[in-house]
Amino acid sequence: MIRRPSADASGFDALAHSRTRAPVRLVRVATLAALAATAAACGGVPAPATGSPAAASRDPQAGRPYVVMISLDGFRHDYVERFTLPTLTRMQREGARARSLVPTFPTKTFPNHYSIVTGLQAGRHQLVGNEMWDPARSRRYGIWNHAATGDASWYAGEPIWVTAERQGVKAAAFFWPTSDAAIGGVRPSRWKPYDGKVDNTARVDSMLAWLALPPAQRPHLVLGYFSDVDDAAHRYGPEALETRAAAIVVDRVLYRLRGGIAQLPFADSVTLIVVSDHGLTPVDSTLYLDDYVSLGDTTAVVATSTSAQLFYGGDRAKTERAVAALRRLPHAHVWRNGEIPERFGLRGNPRAGDVYVLMDPPFSIDRTRRPRPAGWSPGLGNHGYDNALPDMHGVFIAAGGAVRPGSTLGPLENVHVYPFIAHLLGLRPAAGIDGNLEATRPILLR
Ligand code: AMP
Ligand code: ZN
Ligand code: ZN
Repeated sequence: MIRRPSADASGFDALAHSRTRAPVRLVRVATLAALAATAAACGGVPAPATGSPAAASRDPQAGRPYVVMISLDGFRHDYVERFTLPTLTRMQREGARARSLVPTFPTKTFPNHYSIVTGLQAGRHQLVGNEMWDPARSRRYGIWNHAATGDASWYAGEPIWVTAERQGVKAAAFFWPTSDAAIGGVRPSRWKPYDGKVDNTARVDSMLAWLALPPAQRPHLVLGYFSDVDDAAHRYGPEALETRAAAIVVDRVLYRLRGGIAQLPFADSVTLIVVSDHGLTPVDSTLYLDDYVSLGDTTAVVATSTSAQLFYGGDRAKTERAVAALRRLPHAHVWRNGEIPERFGLRGNPRAGDVYVLMDPPFSIDRTRRPRPAGWSPGLGNHGYDNALPDMHGVFIAAGGAVRPGSTLGPLENVHVYPFIAHLLGLRPAAGIDGNLEATRPILLR
């Protein structure tokens, strides 16, 4: 086991953890080469667009550029203009902007954060919902359950931080869904157990402190996550004043982050990427599964407001009865597993259930009417709907390093972000991903 520093400069504990794949020899080489790397980094060496300069060095970090990627949960593609956000406006002028970042289906938080970092559609990386039932294991996954989110056996694919660490490049995440799991036995060198109450400024200052570490410990890939916009848009609606206020809060967070990055001696070699996992759309009424179908026949039910999966252990007769009954459910698409539209990538996936129900906005679905505390409200905004709906689309803005100022892209599928980051960092991407570098080549300087 390798001992790591247990606290970063902001005073937040960087959790010490074992990383079984970390080759001790590599770490020693990095330490010996620290002085040389400092010299290279402090000289503001221009960002190499490929891994060749680093590959030529014995220290895999030396001369390598930096990527900082921030997720603004629920930040819809139109918010920069709709809410007049100065930092993001400036960032897109100085860098690149896609018309939107198109999420994978379902348009939920965990599936899409994981698509962004793996380059895979949800149906291929297997994180097919914020809540899932796995019939093979008879186990339930839910994002509120830290034991489940930290259990890598739920996930397929290789997140970008695993790609980096395996190639000797350090990564750090101040929250990113799934960064608490040792995927393929590897976690980011620095990560945090999720705690939504941690102050935004503390998150930014911690990320900046990581970037100010000595070269041998300094991450070249830093991820950050802010949920203010998603929280407000769920509660007040995607176009509410409160959501605008939350967008202004995260815009200020980015102002602080950009200011801090600009102070770094290697600022020129940092690419800052801002993404979101999905947008939100207004919602009102909720419909209930058990008004239409008896749930007693099921082996499991997952109902996550915008969709539901019903499991019958493959029983044909029960499946047919449920499909016939649910066809009466209005504002809903009801498919047998084998009929789920191909474009969703879930057909044949056991975690999609025997029957898949997808609602049309502004309608939601729940299992049953249940008593709620006084004052409880389901909220005025949601996501999880068809990823073809423009309201479900998020944002992609990148600036600095190898990004061409003033460049633009059309709608960009979020699976293309992984190969983009791999390229910026000079990493060999995992094979067989759904994304490709061609999609973002127009915004690269060379
Ligand atoms: P959603 O239900 O899709 O709107 O999920 C958004 C919520 O996920 C936010 O309110 C966050 O608090 C929560 N969240 C984000 N990251 C994590 C994490 N790593 N572990 C648990 N919950 C998270
Ligand atoms: Zn989200
Ligand atoms: Zn949300």
